[in-house]
Amino acid sequence: MGNIDLHVHSNASDGSCTPAELLKIASEKQLAAIALTDHDTVSGIEEFLRESARYDLDAVPGLEVSVLYKDSAIHITGLFIDHKNQPLMELLGEVRENRDKRNELIIGKLQELGYEITLDEVLGVASGESIGRPHFAKILVEKGYFSYPQEVFDKCLKKGMSGYCPRMLPDPERAIKLIHEAGGMAFWAHPVHRADENLSYVESVLNVFIKLGLDGIEAYYSTFTREQQEMLLRVAEKYNLAVSGGSDFHGENMPGVEMGSGFGGLAVPFSIYGGILGKRKTGHST
Ligand code: AMP
Ligand code: MN
Ligand code: MN
Ligand code: MN
Repeated sequence: MGNIDLHVHSNASDGSCTPAELLKIASEKQLAAIALTDHDTVSGIEEFLRESARYDLDAVPGLEVSVLYKDSAIHITGLFIDHKNQPLMELLGEVRENRDKRNELIIGKLQELGYEITLDEVLGVASGESIGRPHFAKILVEKGYFSYPQEVFDKCLKKGMSGYCPRMLPDPERAIKLIHEAGGMAFWAHPVHRADENLSYVESVLNVFIKLGLDGIEAYYSTFTREQQEMLLRVAEKYNLAVSGGSDFHGENMPGVEMGSGFGGLAVPFSIYGGILGKRKTGHST
C-alpha cells in the first residue's frame, strides 16, 4: 500500500494547483489517499471528488480552519466532511468575511510601509474565495521586494512584523461542533509547528480540546523532527486520539514542500489512514 497525505491545499485557498492537478500529482506519487484541506473554504471539493473517479486513490473531503485559543491561532483540520452542510458553510462564510476585512487592513499597512501593492492585485493572483497572506507574499516576491515567500513572512507578514494584522477567528467549540455536524472528524493540525511548543503545551491544549470533541492530532508533518513525531504519537495513544498526517502542500506557494514527502523526510504510512477509518467507524460524540 502506498503512503498517504491528509493535508493538502488547492487554489481554492492558498495553494497553487487546482484540485484536479493535486489528484494527478498524488497518483504520480502513488499515494493511496489524499485529503483536500483548504483554509476556510470547501469550494474545491466538488471538483476534487469528481476528478478522483479517474484515479485509484481515496479522496477525502476536508478543510482547515483556524480557531482562537488564548490569544493564539490553533489550526483544526476537518476530514470526511459533507461539503454541502449548511451550518458549516455559514461558519466558513463568516470566517472569510473576517479574512477580507483583515486583508484590507494589511493592504493599508503595506502601502504605509512604502510597498506598491493594491487589493485588486491580491484578488488577481488568488483564484478562489479564500484569500490569505501567501497571495500577498506572491505579489511582493514578483515585484522584487523579497526573494521568496518565506522571506516575506519572516520579515514582514508574520506575527510581530510590521505588515502583520490579526483577523477575527471563530471559537474552537463552534468549529469542532460544526465539523461533527457535517459528519467530519476534527484534528489538531501541526500541534508543534513554528514554535518550540513542548509536551506540556500539547497536553494543556488537549485537556481543553478533547472536552470540546477533538478526535485526533496530526502527528506526521513536513517540519516535524523524528522526536516531535514520536512525542505526538505517544500523546495520541495516551489520550486515545486518532492520528493524522500530511505535508501541508501548497504547490509553488510554499517551495520545497512536496506532496507526500514534505521536505524529503516525510512518509505517512497507509496504516494511519486505516487507523482513522477504524476510529471513524466506532464513532465520536457530537
Ligand atoms: P492567513 O490564513 O491569511 O493568515 O495566512 C496563513 C497562511 O500563510 C498559512 O496557511 C500558511 O500557508 C502561510 N504561513 C503562515 N505563517 C507562515 C510563516 N511564518 N512562514 C511561511 N508561511 C506562513
Ligand atoms: Mn496555507
Ligand atoms: Mn495550518
Ligand atoms: Mn494547511
